[in-house]
Amino acid sequence: MPKLMKKSTARTLAALLAAAFLFACACVPEREKRTATFFDYFDTVITLVSYSDKAAFDEAAAAAEEIFSSLNKLFDIYHEYDNVVNLAAVNRMAGERTEVDPAIAELVSAGKEYFELTRGAVNIAMGAVLRLWHDARINAEEDPEHASLPDEAALAEAAKHCSIDDVIVEGNTVLLRDPEMSLDVGAIAKGYAADRVAEKLGEMGVSFMLNCGGAVLTNGKKPGGEDWIAGIADPAAAGEGFAAKVAVDSAALSTSGSYLRSFTVDGKTYGHIIDPATLRPAEGTASVSVLCVGISAMTADALSTACFVLGAGIGGELIEGVEGASALFVLPSGEKIASGGFPER
Ligand code: AMP
Ligand code: MG
Repeated sequence: MPKLMKKSTARTLAALLAAAFLFACACVPEREKRTATFFDYFDTVITLVSYSDKAAFDEAAAAAEEIFSSLNKLFDIYHEYDNVVNLAAVNRMAGERTEVDPAIAELVSAGKEYFELTRGAVNIAMGAVLRLWHDARINAEEDPEHASLPDEAALAEAAKHCSIDDVIVEGNTVLLRDPEMSLDVGAIAKGYAADRVAEKLGEMGVSFMLNCGGAVLTNGKKPGGEDWIAGIADPAAAGEGFAAKVAVDSAALSTSGSYLRSFTVDGKTYGHIIDPATLRPAEGTASVSVLCVGISAMTADALSTACFVLGAGIGGELIEGVEGASALFVLPSGEKIASGGFPER
């Protein structure tokens, strides 16, 4: 039985602890959480969170925005810009070798590697097919009454022009050997951009959590040494509530989900991630989050799209084979399936 502390000793200890707490508060003022939000890049919402002081944060946010802005122009497949040879230009010049920015060459080379890694589930050369689904979704958003699916014959024709082997990267040039083909880098571009921004902010010595439309990256810790915690949205709750929370400790977490972009025809909902095997939106999974430790956010981005296409069975096997990767599949029923030791909190 522990000896009871004398009342006077307890009072002195309490006073000392209170003083120590006050002293600690005076020396280490509570750090303010700062957030910058960007709405103009990659057709998504980007947030940067940090507890650094205002001057350092403002500088970091400006540096981040500059990188997002420039990569957004380079990787845009829908618009061209003055004095920029971007992917829209590469697509337009399919059939001809095009001199490109090193970032485009790097992204497209990585896309070819991800085709191999994901057993063809992620195919950046599938632009012709993805365009038909994209247009159907945009039409549906503009005129829901007349929403319709892409024409089957058009899909079958487009599918003849999606060979990744026809994408040739040599130095800083890209050649799409098939003049009818086009690139769509939507599955990996946000991850690539997040990696570039994280690299820059890391060099600037800033601790942060960055969320680039579902590709989350962190550097360092929160004040007090706590891990950054990322929430995985509950796919059934339209932005309200979390399916899970996960500590992202100098790692990358990417989430792909059909709830993010979809449209409805005759009461059935169609997502934006297309299964190359069926040329239709992948079904069977509501969202997949892939955590990558010691691997790039771009790889996490590629793997989450791939896992969405492949489903928890084959996707789970894929994840087990990638060192440092783990995944959480959320099924339409709400059931959760973890692979590779996903560290859900
Ligand atoms: P993510 O949000 O990273 O899962 O990427 C989804 C985006 O990638 C879509 O909006 C399309 O632009 C593109 N995409 C959809 N399906 C595929 C696929 N099977 N392979 C490559 N890119 C795809
Ligand atoms: Mg992706």
